[in-house]
Amino acid sequence: MYIAVLGSTGSIGTQTLEVVRELNSRKEALHNPHITITGLAAGGNTDLLARQAVEFNVRLLSVAAREDVYNLTEKIRMLDPSFKADIFYGEEGLLKVAECGADILITAVVGMMGLKPTLAAIRNGTDIALANKETLVAAGDIVIREAAEHKVSIIPVDSEHSAIFQCLNGNSKRDKRAFRKIFLTASGGPFRGMSFEELSLVTPEDTMKHPTWNMGSKITVDSATLMNKGLEVIEAMHLFGVSHRDIEVIVHPQSIVHSMVAFRDGSVIAQLGNPDMKVPIRLALTYPERAESETPLPDFTEIGSLTFEKPDTDAFPCLRYAIEAADMSGTMPAVMNAANEIAVGSFLKGNIKFNDIQYNIRKVMDLHMRSKECPFIQDPSLDEIIAADKWARAAAGGIKCPV
Ligand code: MG
Repeated sequence: MYIAVLGSTGSIGTQTLEVVRELNSRKEALHNPHITITGLAAGGNTDLLARQAVEFNVRLLSVAAREDVYNLTEKIRMLDPSFKADIFYGEEGLLKVAECGADILITAVVGMMGLKPTLAAIRNGTDIALANKETLVAAGDIVIREAAEHKVSIIPVDSEHSAIFQCLNGNSKRDKRAFRKIFLTASGGPFRGMSFEELSLVTPEDTMKHPTWNMGSKITVDSATLMNKGLEVIEAMHLFGVSHRDIEVIVHPQSIVHSMVAFRDGSVIAQLGNPDMKVPIRLALTYPERAESETPLPDFTEIGSLTFEKPDTDAFPCLRYAIEAADMSGTMPAVMNAANEIAVGSFLKGNIKFNDIQYNIRKVMDLHMRSKECPFIQDPSLDEIIAADKWARAAAGGIKCPV
């Protein structure tokens, strides 16, 4: 089996390569495919990308910028002077890797930059292991329609969506009416229980201390604001063909139940496991089979109790804004997502406060409804979504937060 990875040096990317290493080292095990990596795309971490390329013998590589091409070439030469690879950069590089003819493309880049390469791979008939939720948030209708047209499967890598996918037995389309409701679980992030006022004082360092999951910085901030759960509601709507009204977000701090589906007859099926992204990654690479692994099982008597509570959307309004954007649909989810990406970036640089993230998103969503330059469009084309995203980034960058 041939795979390509976008975002190979990030959290999901490195864990994907760990899963590949593990599957390839246990060839004799039942249902373990032998995986060849045909392309890797990363940003500026040329040290790690060079090591990945040489270890997995990958000859098609992409980096963020032109200067990274030189750095990567040098680093590969130091590791193995005889190793030759084609190296591209920027959007062209992402597209080259996406279109390299793999069986599965793992989309583990962060943010809106995942959209074009994901669509390119779909049009090329490549199945998608989706770890880039922003793609579905911004352009879910188009992505899902194109996937159906090209008979391409989209297998979720996000732990909650992998759970829902498994609860539905990977067969949501056969009998849409069979399930009543999806329970989407959230850890609640590091600031669960804090008030809006208390949140005004938290720092980027506090935000990075996620209680259960170890993830990249953007998604860790999104988890702290609960925007991550808002994005996941929209992702689930597209993946499983449901309305946001069919999805209930519940906070489950232990992160053992990864989500649940309630069926027509009142039965609820949950998927459980330790919080470990390698589980959904492994399933996405081996589906419909399950590979052997040594992933530790939850120690239930040690865990003792699993608890559930309602999310506090007064302290964490981002979840409400995302559901509002989902309800409006059209260009609004793309605008909301772009405003969030810019605000999270500013927060991580120390330029705005934690509560300014939600303030920026609210402002940009309101501006979009009044904008003559970039009016709200109910049924946008891909170009109109990309234009709305670009407008929202500029708008979010220009907002002055009250001090
Ligand atoms: Mg998730």
